[in-house]
Amino acid sequence: MTGTEMLDHWIDGGPDAGSGTRSGPVYDPAKGIVAKQVRFGTAGDVDRAVQAAAKAFTSWGNASIAKRQQVLFAFRELLNARRSELAEILTAEHGKVLSDAAGEIARGLEVVEFACGMPHLTKGTYSLNASTDVDVYTVKEPLGVVGIISPFNFPAMVPLWFFPIAIAAGNTVVLKPSEKDPTSASWMAGLLKEAGLPDGVFNVVHGDKEAVDALLEHPEVSAISFVGSTPIARHVYETATRAGKRVQALGGAKNHMLVLPDADLDLAADAAVNAGFGSAGERCMAISVLVAVDPVGDDLIGKITERMATLRTGDGRGEADMGPLITREHRDKVAGYLDVASKDGATVVVDGRGVRADGEADGFWLGPCLVDNVPTSSTVYTDEIFGPVLSVVRVGSYAEGVELINSVPYGNGTAIFTNDGGAARRFQRDVEVGMVGVNVPIPVPVAYHSFGGWKASMFGDAKAYGPHGVEFFTRDKTITSRWLDPSHGGLNLGFPQND
Ligand code: NAD
Repeated sequence: MTGTEMLDHWIDGGPDAGSGTRSGPVYDPAKGIVAKQVRFGTAGDVDRAVQAAAKAFTSWGNASIAKRQQVLFAFRELLNARRSELAEILTAEHGKVLSDAAGEIARGLEVVEFACGMPHLTKGTYSLNASTDVDVYTVKEPLGVVGIISPFNFPAMVPLWFFPIAIAAGNTVVLKPSEKDPTSASWMAGLLKEAGLPDGVFNVVHGDKEAVDALLEHPEVSAISFVGSTPIARHVYETATRAGKRVQALGGAKNHMLVLPDADLDLAADAAVNAGFGSAGERCMAISVLVAVDPVGDDLIGKITERMATLRTGDGRGEADMGPLITREHRDKVAGYLDVASKDGATVVVDGRGVRADGEADGFWLGPCLVDNVPTSSTVYTDEIFGPVLSVVRVGSYAEGVELINSVPYGNGTAIFTNDGGAARRFQRDVEVGMVGVNVPIPVPVAYHSFGGWKASMFGDAKAYGPHGVEFFTRDKTITSRWLDPSHGGLNLGFPQND
């Protein structure tokens, strides 16, 4: 193993070596080499980070809205000015191509900009004279220390879904990023400091299950925001709610794109390729199943195959359209589904194994793959593969397509491609999925709406960012108040009534 540089935690305003002895490799997936090591935090490291955050909360939670807003504005300016530096980190550790990394940062910046409006979003409500001489008002207060646990596929954007809102609302944060591509989290911690954020308000503890579980059970952590696979989301939700915390846990997905016979098949084919193979299919909103309503199947597959032949797989720092997968193990696991597909009676139309990638031979390559007539009993259909494998299922009617989508345990994203407004409107009502695209294959909501799926794609009541994010990171306090004068005297043991 090469790559001896060690990435530290970030606790109380600076790098921190922690108390543990464990660490893990961080790869450059386009080269297939270990680029550096990352420390794995212990329960003691998590405790120190939480204590630093708790101490910082005593002043940050009381800082004026104007002061908090100034830091957020400064962070926005710095992130905007240095986004290409962050994009390079993302490409080097995740493998996504630079233009895709830039897109990830742009969507994260949107949330920072939304959080800059926190004074308006948290200004509360006031009812004058709710009863005679009695005013009732509701204020929004921060929770305290909040924990964020993020996945490998959006190492910058997913933390940015949460911490700008949490911090702007007056909370302090301990982030446990993915151990597979951890550098961007530490980089953003440094940028927040440069923006003027006081020490201890934002902390990063790197690591794996040990650090996560310590955060979930820590008595001084008030809330947990998690994003990752469904089994871990369920574990996080159950553990942290049992420990009395407020939890939002976003899980995995299997997103279907329904193509009706009246759709423009060229545009649908473009969309399917973009949404199926962008970021090598390692997106929770990737389209992984194409549902072709008869008779469009053959035409659509022809058009998609033509487009796939033009895709360049390679190092994201070069001219490629699609980069490598995150690790060798993950690449091998994804590639293994092609054998399963053949065994289960599906047709492998395009096999990405052995792709001639524009990059080093040891990169974790797998070219785009297309599998037709996938039986819904096959694990190719039922598993979240999380790689560049697009499955096609053919159905006889719109109703059959919707029934198929609704029978899946996940409910993250879906899309319909049609020129029939009535059918699109019907789909929007019929489908049991949290985020729906009408001729939009990756319907990730803008920052002032909220992001989250249904069913096994999300546990908890509050989605990420937008209005839900503000509610999640604040708690309401309602005050009933009057200023006494002699007319308010007298004894009355009855329950207070309004008059
Ligand atoms: P993952 O579940 O393996 O890891 C997510 C986080 O949990 C990481 O920080 C990891 O260190 C930690 N973790 C892993 N195993 C753990 C365990 N046993 N106990 C406690 N913590 C553990 O997910 P991933 O592979 O990093 O990311 C891909 C997954 O995330 C996919 O399933 C994808 O759909 C999902 N995802 C969902 C959304 C969404 O918004 N719904 C967004 C992005 C990614």
